[in-house]
Amino acid sequence: MRFPLGEAIVDIIVDDDDFSIPMSEFFPDRDPELIERHRGVLEPDFFDLAGGMAKFAIQSFVLRTATTTLLIDSCIGEGKDRPEIPVWHERRGSGFLDRLRRAGVDPAAIDLVFCTHLHVDHVGWNTQRANGRWEPSFPNARYLFGRNELNAWMDQLRDGSALPLHARGLEDSVIPIVEAGRADLVDDGYELCAGLRLLPLPGHTNGQMGVAVDFARDRALFCGDAVHNPLQIFQPGLSTSTCVDPRTGSETRQMIFAEAADSSRLLVPAHFRGQRCAHIHSAGGGYEPVFDVRPG
Ligand SMILES: [Zn+2]
Repeated sequence: MRFPLGEAIVDIIVDDDDFSIPMSEFFPDRDPELIERHRGVLEPDFFDLAGGMAKFAIQSFVLRTATTTLLIDSCIGEGKDRPEIPVWHERRGSGFLDRLRRAGVDPAAIDLVFCTHLHVDHVGWNTQRANGRWEPSFPNARYLFGRNELNAWMDQLRDGSALPLHARGLEDSVIPIVEAGRADLVDDGYELCAGLRLLPLPGHTNGQMGVAVDFARDRALFCGDAVHNPLQIFQPGLSTSTCVDPRTGSETRQMIFAEAADSSRLLVPAHFRGQRCAHIHSAGGGYEPVFDVRPG
């Protein structure tokens, strides 16, 4: 899927199009009345209500401007030790890099990789196994990690509090990049290239940041996991069981939706299925998504 964004083009490269988690486990505070009222929007792409499952895509976004090719979030990867998630464990043959090439993006042509946060579904393709070790998948890229995000995870690794799933993700997909001297630690407001800057989106993790795009003609926010599912547009206070600070996550969503509502700001969440992006419209004292992928 490709769409124009001001002077840039964006390709959505999917790594897993059908990842399901029991909704009772992932969204324990969901409002069943809201789900029923908006069932026509939420099914079939975002929920399987009969089966009790919430549904997600895991995908990267490649944004190309005249000067810069940027990959946002690097998904699951291959050959990685992920026993907690059997469909991702020691995975092979995903076709992700072939899909990237078919979109006209050679891995060697990527200038920047930015991970919105350092969970395993956002760092996996940072590295590939080669010569008996984990080497950068994008050989000419600088990898941008949020300074607060990386430092918090390194503290958790040192004190043993990191979940084993994410600890292994750091060890095979983040630390090898740092040790290879390919990482740049970046902060709130960092300008990736003209018109693109980092915006803090705390809550899912404390150090999560998104990429705000402000071109003369178009505006967008690549918002990572600040929003996992369109249900959260109808119910902004709804965090997930994987969010470290639900109250702050809720405030972040309110901030994002208020700024995007009834404006040209397109939201590009990491996990919406159907390769969907959303405009936010005000409705009945709250918000509703208007999906817009503007195929190019
Ligand atoms: Zn995620």
